[in-house]
Amino acid sequence: MTEHDNGDWVVSALCRQVDPDLWFPEQGGGGAAHVKMVKKICRECPVRQECLDLGLDERYGIWGGYSERERRYMRKGFVVGSPLPRGRWSA
Ligand code: SF4
Repeated sequence: MTEHDNGDWVVSALCRQVDPDLWFPEQGGGGAAHVKMVKKICRECPVRQECLDLGLDERYGIWGGYSERERRYMRKGFVVGSPLPRGRWSA
């Protein structure tokens, strides 16, 4: 068992250091640039897989660096590529 298996992974989430509402762009009216910025942060997050495991079935928001539409495709069995190439998220 790792430290992340019991839900403690949340404390390592990068989105805790920023406004978590940014991960729900449908509530804030975020456009493509907004989603791209959020995905860049997720790409560097050390608990991305744990986040995706939890959020795969969530209807709203960006989880594990994947949008609602991307997770919907994943649930249907499609392979969805990495949200963004590795790189700095501070642009
Ligand atoms: S991968 Fe998940 S936990 Fe990490 S920053 Fe993105 S939404 Fe937050």
